[in-house]
Amino acid sequence: MICHVCGAEMNRITTDLPFKLRDNGIVVVRDLPVIQCSSCREYLLDDAVMEQVEGILNRAGKSIEFEVVKFAA
Ligand SMILES: [Zn+2]
Repeated sequence: MICHVCGAEMNRITTDLPFKLRDNGIVVVRDLPVIQCSSCREYLLDDAVMEQVEGILNRAGKSIEFEVVKFAA
């Protein structure tokens, strides 16, 4: 897969990514499988992974400011 931003090769890696919640909260998802550009900071998530992330974010407490959740495939 080629990065649509810079044209470099994109690789499947596992990383930790922060996601912002509606109420200023941040959830960091650990060990998340993403497709990341080898040159710039662009990354993509598979649809199935994105759905699971949304589930994690929906389960996160509404009043939290910061939470770290391990991604379980
Ligand atoms: Zn790129």
